[in-house]
Amino acid sequence: EVVVLRLGHRPGRDDRMTTHVALTARALGADRAVLVGEATQARETVTDITDRFGGPFEVTVTDSYRPLLRDWEGAVVHLTMYGEPVEDVTPTIRERHRDDPLLLVVGAGKVDFEVYDRADWNVGVTNQPHSEVAALAVFLDRLFEGQELDRDWADADRRVIPQATGKRVEDVDD
Ligand code: SAM
Repeated sequence: EVVVLRLGHRPGRDDRMTTHVALTARALGADRAVLVGEATQARETVTDITDRFGGPFEVTVTDSYRPLLRDWEGAVVHLTMYGEPVEDVTPTIRERHRDDPLLLVVGAGKVDFEVYDRADWNVGVTNQPHSEVAALAVFLDRLFEGQELDRDWADADRRVIPQATGKRVEDVDD
């Protein structure tokens, strides 16, 4: 299991980014997103996408990240520009994930030091400042070695048929 924990949602300002964190987590192979703060709108959008385009994928909203972080039984990876290079540490993380669930923490505003301290790995996708959405996408793709790009989606109502040009979406019958 891979769970993405999105810290520090600021109402209004972070709505789209939080939605994009969860959509990216879903599309690129994570099983669940936990959104901290007033992220009800983001949860509804992602739940709606999962209903239409399939799953399994869960989204929950919580007031505090601390209980989850404290009680997590598995590995904790924190994505941060200050961390160790993704290209160096991902093979070791993948090895650990063979046996253990992975909690993947991304921030929004300033991240408390306790997160750096609790993490088994602080991982940088480059040591340049950019975005939690981009960092998450690169990390998941490295973790799953691209296998997440081609997978089946359960209980979808709609399916996109890839086209060189134009848009084709079909109803799924079963
Ligand atoms: N000011 C914040 C800090 O000092 O930690 C960073 C804010 S950044 C816009 C939001 C989140 O994007 C970070 O918490 C981190 O999870 C992620 N992020 C940004 N750049 C990253 C990088 N180079 N590697 C990994 N994650 C990154």
